[in-house]
Amino acid sequence: MDFLPVFLNLKKRPCAVIGGGEVASRKVSLLLAAGAQITVYAPTLCETIRHWADAGKVRCVATEFDPDVLVGCALVIAATDNAAVNRQVSEASKTRGIPVNVVDQPELCTFIMPSIIDRSPVIIAVSTGGSSPVLARLIRARLEALIPAGYGRLAKLVVKFRDQVKQHFTQAPRRRQFWEDVLQGPIAELVYSGQDAAAEKALQQRIESADGSKPPVGEVYLVGGGPGDPDLLTFRALHLMQQADVVVYDRLVSPAVLELVRRDAERIYAGKERDNHAIPQEDINHLLVRLAKAGKRVVRLKGGDPFIFGRGGEEIDTLAAEGIPFQVVPGITAAAGCAAYAGIPLTHRDYAQSVVFVTGHLQDGTVNLNWKALAQPRQTMVFYMGLHGIETICRELIHHGMPPSTKAALVQQGTTRNQRVLIGDLETLPAIVEKAKVKAPTLIIVGDVVQLHDRLKWFAPTAVNRKS
Ligand code: SAH
Repeated sequence: MDFLPVFLNLKKRPCAVIGGGEVASRKVSLLLAAGAQITVYAPTLCETIRHWADAGKVRCVATEFDPDVLVGCALVIAATDNAAVNRQVSEASKTRGIPVNVVDQPELCTFIMPSIIDRSPVIIAVSTGGSSPVLARLIRARLEALIPAGYGRLAKLVVKFRDQVKQHFTQAPRRRQFWEDVLQGPIAELVYSGQDAAAEKALQQRIESADGSKPPVGEVYLVGGGPGDPDLLTFRALHLMQQADVVVYDRLVSPAVLELVRRDAERIYAGKERDNHAIPQEDINHLLVRLAKAGKRVVRLKGGDPFIFGRGGEEIDTLAAEGIPFQVVPGITAAAGCAAYAGIPLTHRDYAQSVVFVTGHLQDGTVNLNWKALAQPRQTMVFYMGLHGIETICRELIHHGMPPSTKAALVQQGTTRNQRVLIGDLETLPAIVEKAKVKAPTLIIVGDVVQLHDRLKWFAPTAVNRKS
């Protein structure tokens, strides 16, 4: 631990601020919030400090710095743009044993100012050891949702490049903008995903090409949004969703999940209903490429898991061919989500030793499967997109030797507050679908494990706005 975090009581204690500009005013504002008795020493004052002086909140002395004014002070802050004065303040304070902070010069400080989340009486203070104020601010902004495990390593990366960046970008605002981009963009993502060497290389390139005319290349995150319940998202999915500039989402993504995407991200609906694709797959692939080439961080949000009947493979294939960086975040697939929330274990030592995930909707619109391989004893079958072909599915399984009394479950809108579970067998299932007006998205689970539902069901939500 390089610094010991402490919380100081400065109420009515004399504090000196050397410097009267905007930077000084931000420190004065904090000291005011802490109830300190502040004297500002500066030949000229910015609007904000002048305003406080007029209102009697701070005392101002319009002189050059004189070390004697520090006597009796509880705390000193130097915020001048004169390096010699800053150093003089630092040394004078140290000799007198007074804690001193020199803005943006950690080597001259005996204490550093944390980033603060003020929820009085609870205060959360964040420090990066003075290595990067921008980073501290970003941590603060994210604390409420989640702190990625890689932040420590990100800070190390910043320290490593800090001087180089300072030399390259001589103006502070430009430098801040650069760090903001780096700390929120693909380079930080590389660090979070454990690719530190690649992050370092990318950062080096980014610094070198910073003034070039080439626009930055964005990145695409293919994210599994799970079956509906937002609590089933992974931390990583949530983290990327909160960084996105654009989100391209499917019909299956639940509104509660979509709600968690960064407020000001652009939202593009890519549709995908049976036989009614809002945007053809070809176009979605190219849309992702186009957005990434415009420098955007694109979250391609899919229901369930992107690699299970999600065409995720096709989309990243196009990205790979175009050299666009991408990542894939797994999600809880409908089979896992629906089985869990319906109390139907997909395997069980007494009933099933294997489970197969099957699509009930083939590209040519038929259900043309290897029925013989599917109709095996002690195997659970999970049909995705099977509602339309339910009659064929049940008929063919019986035809290939499965007892008509084999148990089957329909799970509609699994894991959501509208979840419905209907139990039947291969003989009765098509009639149940019709009678109960079962609608997509529905998953069909076939096999002896279905009989466990009666004993193991636990999820009993109060339905909201069920349309059927
Ligand atoms: N990639 C998705 C599946 C896409 S295919 C995943 O991994 O879950 C679409 C089919 O998934 C739907 O027709 C339906 O059969 C199933 N499905 C998806 N979400 C579901 C849900 N919440 N409840 C029931 N079935 C669901």
